[in-house]
Amino acid sequence: MTLSRPILVLDDEPFMLDVLQHMLEQEGCTDVVCMSDGTSALAWLDAQAQPAQMVVLDINMPGMDGVEFVRHLAERKFTGSLLLVSGEDELLLQATEKLARAYELETATPLRKPPTPDALRAALAQLQAPKTPGRRQAKRKQYSPDEVLTAIQSGQLVNWYQPKVAVKTGEVVGAEALVRWQHPTDGLVFPDQFIPIAEAGGFINELTRVVARAAVAQAREWLAAGLKLRVAINVSMDDLATLALADRMIAKTEEGGVPPQFMQIEITESRLMKSVTSVLDQLIRLRLKRFRLSIDDFGSGHSSLVQLRDLPFDELKIDRSFTHNASHDARLRAIFAASLNLGRTLGMEVVAEGVEDRDDWDFLIETGVNIAQGYFIARPMPAAAMQGWLHEWEARLWQDGLLPTETH
Ligand code: C2E
Ligand code: CA
Ligand code: CA
Repeated sequence: MTLSRPILVLDDEPFMLDVLQHMLEQEGCTDVVCMSDGTSALAWLDAQAQPAQMVVLDINMPGMDGVEFVRHLAERKFTGSLLLVSGEDELLLQATEKLARAYELETATPLRKPPTPDALRAALAQLQAPKTPGRRQAKRKQYSPDEVLTAIQSGQLVNWYQPKVAVKTGEVVGAEALVRWQHPTDGLVFPDQFIPIAEAGGFINELTRVVARAAVAQAREWLAAGLKLRVAINVSMDDLATLALADRMIAKTEEGGVPPQFMQIEITESRLMKSVTSVLDQLIRLRLKRFRLSIDDFGSGHSSLVQLRDLPFDELKIDRSFTHNASHDARLRAIFAASLNLGRTLGMEVVAEGVEDRDDWDFLIETGVNIAQGYFIARPMPAAAMQGWLHEWEARLWQDGLLPTETH
């Protein structure tokens, strides 16, 4: 790896500085500057004509610690990349990583002490990888309310679907509709770039209608093809308070000949709920008709115990931030177990979102959670890709031994 600008390594232990410098040199990084305290490091950074290529930062330091140093980097609008190095303090590491990301600093997976050449190489590769025009990294274009409204009204929104599978059997039990905007010139635009605009602009109802209509049509198509998939749509409490969703959904499903138990509504609380009565009224009616109601992002702050107390849900979705990595993190496991237990005690089916890798999947098998959803199983896809994916999934279940082994 050749770098044109210097790398700054900041660590209070001289031995660790030597190790890191040596390892960086082995990777071809020859211009390495070592410092042992934050204040001198900042002074050095400020004195450079060009920003450093990278800062390798030990987060546990006496005096100015890593968290504070990251804040100083952000204040200086540091454009180089950041590689965190830590000992055992998991909490501090997570907090620093979150902070760095919140400041939009470019970071790689942190290095654990003692650092290994392989881990360092992987981190450097990660930082050097050409940025895919990935959704999150892409320069985000700001759309105006008018543009979003036009997109909704002119049929530019499409539903993609992400499968939900039963953990015990691998059976595909449903699919969540996730809306995308097929922009005429910008390509596929993700919901975080237009849902908040539709909400703030007061026309989220229009979007929900379009999504719901397409979802019912899709459920019907799948049923006709013999695929018994429960199709879920996303609705916020706000939305529910003002949209006559219940009437519409009931009418739409009747019209389309889709039994309501094949439709599911995932509900989040986007802001403080103004009218509980109107929401409650609609939810009870939907439940009576056998629509499935799901509390989304449970535990994330948008979904709370108050909602569980007041509203008739039959599914609880544990927020993805508690699933991914739970097998490696005792705090996440504790929160996951408590949410699962709560859902079960209240007689709900429990879904784990955010299953990103094999470790997450194996963890779920142990917990006995009912349903799983996440990138490990499948990324959201256009409806037309579902049949093909189903075949792949069948094959993977056996080839990769994804099902729980029977204990005799
Ligand atoms: P959500 O309801 O929590 O949906 C799940 C989001 O997590 C989706 O992002 C999905 O692509 C992503 N995801 C799925 N598996 C994984 C995983 O393993 N790891 C990670 N990191 N992420 C995963 P997407 O499609 O960008 O949607 C974001 C949010 O936008 C949704 O969060 C939902 O709140 C909202 N949204 C999407 N479609 C609609 C809609 O039709 N109406 C409304 N009101 N909101 C929608
Ligand atoms: Ca959802
Ligand atoms: Ca969710």
